[in-house]
Amino acid sequence: MSFDTPSKKPKIIWLNVLVFIITSTVALIGVPLYGYFYGYDWGHLIATVLCIGYCGMSITAGYHRLWSHKAYQANALVRVIYAIGGAFAVQNSALHWASDHRVHHGHVDDNDKDPYSAKKGFWYSHIGWMLREYQAHRYQDYSNVKDLQRDPVVMWQHKHYLVLTLAANFGIPLLIGVIHGDIWGMLLTAGFLRLVISHHVTFFINSLAHIWGSQPYNVKNTARDNGFIALFTFGEGYHNFHHHFQNDYRNGIKWWQFDPTKWLIRLLSVIGFANNLKRSDDTKIELAKAETLMQKASQQLANINLPDKDTLLESLKAEYDSYTQQLMDFYDVKRQWVNAHKKQLLESPEAQEIVHKYQELCEHIQEQREKWQAFHQQLKLKYQAV
Ligand SMILES: [Zn+2]
Ligand SMILES: [Zn+2]
Repeated sequence: MSFDTPSKKPKIIWLNVLVFIITSTVALIGVPLYGYFYGYDWGHLIATVLCIGYCGMSITAGYHRLWSHKAYQANALVRVIYAIGGAFAVQNSALHWASDHRVHHGHVDDNDKDPYSAKKGFWYSHIGWMLREYQAHRYQDYSNVKDLQRDPVVMWQHKHYLVLTLAANFGIPLLIGVIHGDIWGMLLTAGFLRLVISHHVTFFINSLAHIWGSQPYNVKNTARDNGFIALFTFGEGYHNFHHHFQNDYRNGIKWWQFDPTKWLIRLLSVIGFANNLKRSDDTKIELAKAETLMQKASQQLANINLPDKDTLLESLKAEYDSYTQQLMDFYDVKRQWVNAHKKQLLESPEAQEIVHKYQELCEHIQEQREKWQAFHQQLKLKYQAV
């Protein structure tokens, strides 16, 4: 006689469950009830929309494109603003979020390793993965975000995450409520309703953006491009492109594609608050599109019954080879041209002078830095002596 051991489900994370239940209940019942009895005005609507934007963009421009993917660099002020916005969005610390997200990219669709694998269905990838300890062994493992541990803003937010979350979620709506004159109304709308909407907007990127849409750049994973999803996810709907070119600061690469996160990053770079914006090479993007199209076309051809199927497949391959060869040749020439241009610049007397100046400054700065550190060391000794 044998007994089957029932498959044990991971433990429920009650804190997360309660946060989702309480916030959704207040948003679904409390918000309309208060509106029915006391009413809302434009102030409530504008504040709520602005707060949704602040939470959303802190996640997309900050947690996602800056910290998880290092698609650009931003100054400390911008990073602090993102860190507070991320706590306001109640999506765990940037360190934790980025760690999860890097695993997602590295093991996309792997049901054992991808923290929010879309292959496990809509519910799991949307919210279910946060309700039980599915990957408890990883919760304190931050070995894939060692670079972020060197960012003092990230570590400050990680250390004080709970305090920052409570302060932002009660403090910001309360402050707006005092200014506006309706504290309870603002706590409900810019507080609870904003949080629930902002949560699900981000969650849709893990669920819907892996289910619904096209795959122009890659068919090897479930990520999809969807202009409609981009409309309410601050541009993150172009998820198929993103999974293939994850270090690009853009998700919607065409100028007309709705990607306010990309516009914000551009704006920050124009005013000098961000730099080193990474863009994928246009030819590489073309190559990815060509390869994907080739895969789709050969798959389609293989699945239909045509008398001249073999000839068609052969010419498809010949066309593909010739086009991609041209693209690769173009890419090579472009690189050569850029290198030649750089060389020419460095050989000019003005460039030589700049290089010389740069080297001099480097040495000077090093000396200055050592003096500065020694000075602080002396000060520290003095403090200790008192
Ligand atoms: Zn994804
Ligand atoms: Zn990503």
